[in-house]
Amino acid sequence: MSAVWHPFFQHATEPQPPQITRTEGAYLETADGRRLLDGVSSWWVVTHGHRQPQIVQAIREATESLDQVIFAGLTHAPAEELATELVGMAPAGLDHVFYSDSGSTAVEVALKMALGYWRHEGDGRHRIAVIEDSYHGDTIGTMSVGERGVFNAAYDPLMFAVDRLPFPAGDGQNTLDAFEALAKSGQMAALILEPLVLGAGGMRMYPATVLAGLRQICDRHDVLLIADEVMTGWGRTGRLWACDHAGIAPDIMCTSKGLTGGVVPLAATLASGRIFDAHCSTDRTRTFYHSSSYTANPIACAAALAQVRLWQDSPMQSRLDDLGAMQSARLARLAADDRFENPRQWGTVAALDLKVRDGGYLAETGPRMRAHFMEKGVLLRPLGNTVYVLPPYCVTEEDLDLAWDAIASFQG
Ligand SMILES: *Cc1c(COP(=O)(O)O)cnc(C)c1O
Repeated sequence: MSAVWHPFFQHATEPQPPQITRTEGAYLETADGRRLLDGVSSWWVVTHGHRQPQIVQAIREATESLDQVIFAGLTHAPAEELATELVGMAPAGLDHVFYSDSGSTAVEVALKMALGYWRHEGDGRHRIAVIEDSYHGDTIGTMSVGERGVFNAAYDPLMFAVDRLPFPAGDGQNTLDAFEALAKSGQMAALILEPLVLGAGGMRMYPATVLAGLRQICDRHDVLLIADEVMTGWGRTGRLWACDHAGIAPDIMCTSKGLTGGVVPLAATLASGRIFDAHCSTDRTRTFYHSSSYTANPIACAAALAQVRLWQDSPMQSRLDDLGAMQSARLARLAADDRFENPRQWGTVAALDLKVRDGGYLAETGPRMRAHFMEKGVLLRPLGNTVYVLPPYCVTEEDLDLAWDAIASFQG
């Protein structure tokens, strides 16, 4: 029996997981010699492909001169250069980069920045608005701003209260009206959201006009907008950032997952001058007191810098456009199949729901679908009865056929 306790894994009922011995491009290879198409980009982190050569090379080179260096009071070139590039690529006005090491910590940092901002401004605002079905991580703070349910019921006594907006229906007027009413109260410190796609909440999608409308309400009532681009960033929705579709800039933005192309962990929280300036003072109590041991790990920063160079030096936008078109052709085929409903897509992410009477994440359909996909040589992880394909950008037409044929051949 293995000593490993796996995440989101029921050891009582699931067989010992296959061992992966090699990764390359869009594929994982198992110890018993099978090839698996990574249809979920290893939980949404891999963008260009596994072990992308330039990124791997950058890691090799970085280890020739650096390893972890304390980042409080010291700095290094990989972190400095990466921060400059991130500011240049991010939506306008996000001029300050705070490093951490996972999506959850990037969100915790964002929430702390927002609360710190209002405190230092001498304003008592402290309430956080969220959209129902959101996911922002599995730490206590990020669970608090995420959807409550079977995953986190046990920790409910530790979570703080937030104000929930309904998920946008149609043109999203329901969400905008609810937010306007809340924002008027003068109590809202920030609205945190996943722009355009609610990932773990079931790949639920809403139009860019709703995002733009929420930004306007934030402006009208002086509420900070936190965009959690941890999943949507680095091209997933068909543009570099999901916020780009709406032409908006948040006050605070979180990025992780694809930041290093999915090779090593790293995260960054970008903040506007207004947020930074409120913490910048001769009064030392205004210092942003937050750090992780591995903040701005030089090897991870070097990997991220190589990842950024791919955006600067290769035709990424046309690659995303092609992949989007490849996905929509396949989604359209299954949309005509009456076993499925609610086909939806933002850029490279395509999803649809299997019609089942007994939905919900814990339904037996999920594990059976997963087993079927594995048999077909594809790694897919349905969210309840929602099936989605979120591939690395290096997939071919044939790779995508493998994934979508596996979905089509599932006998509910
Ligand atoms: C995955 C995810 C997180 C959490 O990131 P971790 O690196 O797993 O901590 C936060 N927000 C969103 C939108 C995510 O998809």
